[in-house]
Amino acid sequence: MLTKNLDIGSKLINFKERDMFLEELRDFIDEDLIARQINMADNPDSAKIREIIAKARSIERLEPEETAALLNVKDPDLWDEIFKSAGEIKKTVYDNRIVTFAPLYISNYCVNNCLYCGFRSQSTASKRHQLSQDDIKKEVKNLLQTGHKRIILVSGEHPCSGAEYLADSMKSIYDTKILRQGRESGIRRINVNAAPMSIGDLRKIKEAGIGTYQVFQETYHRSSYSRVHLSGAKSDFRWRLYALHRAMEAGIDDVAVGALFGLYDWRFEVMGLLYHAIDLEKRYGIGPHTVSFPRLNYAEGAEYKGDPSYKVNDEDFKKVVAVIRLSIPYSGMIVSAREPKAIRDEVLALGCTQTDGSAQIGIGGYTSEAEKSSSAGSKQFELGDNRSLGQLIRDLAAKGTITSFCTAGYRCGRTGGKIMGLLKSGHEGKFCKLNAILTFKEWIEDFGDQAMRDLGNQLIQKEFQEIERDDFYKGKRLVSLVKEYYQRIEKGERDLYI
Ligand code: SAM
Ligand code: SF4
Repeated sequence: MLTKNLDIGSKLINFKERDMFLEELRDFIDEDLIARQINMADNPDSAKIREIIAKARSIERLEPEETAALLNVKDPDLWDEIFKSAGEIKKTVYDNRIVTFAPLYISNYCVNNCLYCGFRSQSTASKRHQLSQDDIKKEVKNLLQTGHKRIILVSGEHPCSGAEYLADSMKSIYDTKILRQGRESGIRRINVNAAPMSIGDLRKIKEAGIGTYQVFQETYHRSSYSRVHLSGAKSDFRWRLYALHRAMEAGIDDVAVGALFGLYDWRFEVMGLLYHAIDLEKRYGIGPHTVSFPRLNYAEGAEYKGDPSYKVNDEDFKKVVAVIRLSIPYSGMIVSAREPKAIRDEVLALGCTQTDGSAQIGIGGYTSEAEKSSSAGSKQFELGDNRSLGQLIRDLAAKGTITSFCTAGYRCGRTGGKIMGLLKSGHEGKFCKLNAILTFKEWIEDFGDQAMRDLGNQLIQKEFQEIERDDFYKGKRLVSLVKEYYQRIEKGERDLYI
């Protein structure tokens, strides 16, 4: 039964919940207004751009006219100022660390026909698989053996992979433990990237312990959206546009926006992401926890290979990243292994806060050797960077960056409105720094070789020196606490966080 392609999209849409957020029957993407804002900002003067940069540096979210002005900058020197500020804003809000995670693909059955995707219903190139709960546990054990603590669960959209299957899978993941050097290790946070759901279904995955719920709008431009989403529930632009609003209604206060760059003009998509953040802020007082900006990659079985006029080259990609960093300064930003190492390194320095390591995007890819080597298997698209988690951590450490596996914010209730306040004041970054050190210390102890441990400990000592110089920590017990926890981790304790 599962091998059949079903066009049952409309049955997955609850029309009342789709339309409940409209204002005067309109949604928050006004294409004409965005086009006007982009056109009117043509050739902005440098004094105005510097004012906008200063506003972003004070961790204030920008208004659309301000973002439109940044998108129109032509002067290379001004772009250099924007790039430099983007890196500094990241340092203020999130400090000097990169959070890492692994994608876990559990099913590629899909009712939708997104023309760019290898999982689309009409593709015969894709082998269809859905992992059983035992398969999932095997995958998680393999991921735990590399040191991962955070997972993003990914699935196609199909009745066989609805909310119950996702919730069961999350339970299997949280229940799976391994012993590493005599100590128990498990996944501490599961984010989910799956189809838009009804509020009732979202409550089920909230109960199962979701971290962040991610839905990428792909493109905010309606006719471009319709061109590549031909059938299935995903062909309904608004059902997707309000997926994160429904999540908020279901009590999931940690949501992530994204656009697939290459489907329409990149400037328009950046404006769409900003309007999405603004509408979430307006209604719930909370913007997106993270923003993703994947570029379209080659996918076996995809029909749409990209319109050359919308292809985002590396120079423009860096602009996308920097302008998002300035426009929504409080949000985390994710660059995935879709991007090759060189450009990944560049945009990490421009404000990205999260990236994946050892990524396998075939179904069962962490377990099956065949999946890893097969290019015509069950992969959604091709990756640009196949570095293992260990290599990624070593490379980042060599540049002075700590890799964090921190999940403390979520487990201490620092989510939603609470975390937004802490991020905007720059205080969350201070906790991030401490917890990054502790989780990095755990990883080098359990998974690093002697050279990695030496490099890692040197880096941590530098971080301690920075902490001692920082006024925020002066007179606070946090400094002695992080050093005490560091010692206790060295002696074998695990999962200590602040
Ligand atoms: N099926 C669900 C959906 O579409 O929302 C969830 C996961 S989908 C597997 C995750 C994301 O991968 C999509 O939202 C899309 O942005 C991205 N994606 C799909 N095809 C891609 C491609 N060829 N290159 C890069 N990213 C792609
Ligand atoms: Fe299915 Fe998601 Fe791929 Fe679209 S992008 S075909 S919904 S898996």
